[in-house]
Amino acid sequence: MSYAKVLCVGLVGVTGHLVEVEADLSAGLPAVVISGLPDTALHEARDRVRAAVVNSGQRWPNRRITLNLLPATLPKFGSAFDLAIATALLGGSGELPLLPLDGVVILGELGLDGTVRPVRGVLPMVAAAAQAGVARVIVPVGNAAEAAVIPGVRVRAVDTLHRLVAFVRDGTPLIEPPADIPEPPDGGPDLADVAGQQLGRRALEVAAAGGHHVALLGPPGAGKTMLAERLPSILPELDDDAALEVTALHSVAGLLPPGGRLLRRPPFQAPHHTATVPSLVGGGSGLARPGAVSLAHRGVLFLDEAPEFSKGALEALRQPLEHGRIQLNRSGGGTVYPARTQVVLAANPCPCAKPAGDANCECSPLVRRRYLGRLSGPLLDRIDVQVRLMPVRAAELMATDGDVEPSATVAARVVAARQAAAARWADLGRRLNAEVEGPHLRRPPWRLPARVTVELRGRLDSGSLSARGFDRVIRMAWTIADLDGRDRPDRDDVREALQLRTGEAT
Ligand SMILES: [Zn+2]
Repeated sequence: MSYAKVLCVGLVGVTGHLVEVEADLSAGLPAVVISGLPDTALHEARDRVRAAVVNSGQRWPNRRITLNLLPATLPKFGSAFDLAIATALLGGSGELPLLPLDGVVILGELGLDGTVRPVRGVLPMVAAAAQAGVARVIVPVGNAAEAAVIPGVRVRAVDTLHRLVAFVRDGTPLIEPPADIPEPPDGGPDLADVAGQQLGRRALEVAAAGGHHVALLGPPGAGKTMLAERLPSILPELDDDAALEVTALHSVAGLLPPGGRLLRRPPFQAPHHTATVPSLVGGGSGLARPGAVSLAHRGVLFLDEAPEFSKGALEALRQPLEHGRIQLNRSGGGTVYPARTQVVLAANPCPCAKPAGDANCECSPLVRRRYLGRLSGPLLDRIDVQVRLMPVRAAELMATDGDVEPSATVAARVVAARQAAAARWADLGRRLNAEVEGPHLRRPPWRLPARVTVELRGRLDSGSLSARGFDRVIRMAWTIADLDGRDRPDRDDVREALQLRTGEAT
């Protein structure tokens, strides 16, 4: 026999596609030819596979070897094809009878010594295999737990090419995935720890309920980071589809926690202000790594000291924040990763970052304005909630008396408010108040009566509020009414929303 075929999966973004690896061996000058749009890593695969086969004690066929990866039109990135290539090659040369691997998807990178190394993205690969009707997969032992998350597929693992060969030849058992590790108790930070920051807590609750982006402005010591870290704790758990998406993205990034389970909590990402553009939005050679904005998909992206991020970095965030996904253009085909995230941005009022009123701050009003101005174009424009926080003494911030509301209580209100909004906007195809376009808010049947918006219109006329700002206040007013369990915002809701927009008490 001089032809063999093995199944594998290629990833484009987080979507897996079944790939057939064909090996054909013919007479002629010994050589290895790979076709089917391979990237650089695939060419390197040739050398890895050869060394792994020989170092596993198998005979390398000294013939002309043609390897073909189908469909040819599918861009193929990464090293997960190694094990399938080696298996097809040994099958084609007659060394290995491949009947036991019929219909089995085989994933894994090979080391030169024949060890099978873990690869990124196994979870979405196995999900794609399951969807294509594949019932059995063989994965690297380091990926066994995450592969086993996908229901309906029998997962077995290998640590070496030799083990796979022994399985095929003699039926030596493969490695079973580890038993389920129970979910650890949710040890994330809780709002019960934050006292004395009423405006900040309220801003967070409104943001969570309406899906609004938030800017927290204030001097060091105002508890901005403490608040931001607690936003995920009041967001609803991810439903099945969202959990699968989020877990797949972390799998592709190689960042899944050990144990193998779906990520159910909204993720939290806090890139440092020195972060590079690729680390923020994704990139790299081979299978592109999702950046922070995609790792925060369905969760929270926290940009601390936001004005310190480079102009390029802030600019790069514009596309994902607008479209909820990021397109990475790369040789061999574009990659799209989801990036629907809620942004919390924190900024000091001035570059010297001295507490408010500190006599040592010599920043002029112009310097202060310029500093925050760096955020204006790409980011600040998209943010509904903008609050100015005052410093709180540490003793006040760290609650001890226990009568501060914990996250669970706030989260219950958030869920109820989100349900009300989703029901109201169902006809528009929107679920969150932050997603509803301005014109819908300004037209019947959702236009608010003049007596409710009287202050707002006054500000619009005097020029102290932009048309866009007007819409943002209205959106938040709806969220505040939803949190209160009322059908429509009243004048007080609009007032509070204005305060959450401008930071001014009214
Ligand atoms: Zn200053």
